[in-house]
Amino acid sequence: MDCEICGRPIKGKGFKIVVEGSEVTVCHSCKNYGVEKPISQVSQPGVSKVLIRRKKQPTNIEFS
Ligand SMILES: [Zn+2]
Repeated sequence: MDCEICGRPIKGKGFKIVVEGSEVTVCHSCKNYGVEKPISQVSQPGVSKVLIRRKKQPTNIEFS
């Protein structure tokens, strides 16, 4: 994959940034040209579902 700003090949994953409303993948030296995209927002819905499922009643306490 090449950097969409300078055109040089990106080593590794590269950086996803938002430049003037459009998402581009750039190299390390070009990531300062835009705002880095927060990746954690994408995975949040799945994480919250797991947390809701973990609600358990502590019924075992009465037996001990
Ligand atoms: Zn670049």
